[in-house]
Amino acid sequence: MEERKSLPRRTADALLDLLFPPRCPFCDRLLPEGEQDICHVCQPVLPWTDPGKAEPAGEFVDKCVSPLWYRDPVRASFHRYKFGGCRDYAPVYAALMAQCVRDRLVGEYDLLTYVPLSRKRRRQRGYDQVRLLAEGMAPLLGLPVTETLDRIRHDPAQSGLTEESARRANVLGAYRATDPGAVRGKRVLLADDVVTTGSTLSECARVLRSAGAAGVVCVTLARARPGGKETAPAAPPPGRERDFMNSF
Ligand SMILES: [Zn+2]
Repeated sequence: MEERKSLPRRTADALLDLLFPPRCPFCDRLLPEGEQDICHVCQPVLPWTDPGKAEPAGEFVDKCVSPLWYRDPVRASFHRYKFGGCRDYAPVYAALMAQCVRDRLVGEYDLLTYVPLSRKRRRQRGYDQVRLLAEGMAPLLGLPVTETLDRIRHDPAQSGLTEESARRANVLGAYRATDPGAVRGKRVLLADDVVTTGSTLSECARVLRSAGAAGVVCVTLARARPGGKETAPAAPPPGRERDFMNSF
């Protein structure tokens, strides 16, 4: 389904383009005239995943799909998005994820939700980077975003932990279902940004299934190899995110 924008919204978009010309999220260069979303230099060299290959799902997760591998330039781009305040990358990322869902998960879900940040982390960052991705996908998939989970424990960021067992222990009991009635009997499409060991997705899927979900499939922007050097980036030290953002 195509997103319909009202006239004032389109005018606002055009004005924003004039003030902040769109950049390619992967090289951060201004998009040449006539190009949209991803520049012609990045498009052919991005580390696209192979749609034919089996993608490890993880416990409680039926399938997990991602359009990209988590290595440069995706990694550097995502770092700017997550910690550098580059929120404007979200629509491009979301379009890639929605296309991946349409290609690989057609007919396998009927509710769209996402892995939420804790309130504390959201306050620190000023935005929930995964929610922005889910909101970007919603009009493209023709489904609203349903909030189903709450992060109830704020522990060390998962991205700072590399051992699978430590990551699993870190997320156990960290989420709760906010409204079990909303997921009962539903096949859930759960969005996250980067999947590494899959422990966060597995824990969220476990909670959703306990709340009555009939199944859980996942989509992430990128997939990192567990233990690989391209594991998800560690957050800047507390209080530094703003400094980092202000440097842009
Ligand atoms: Zn580019």
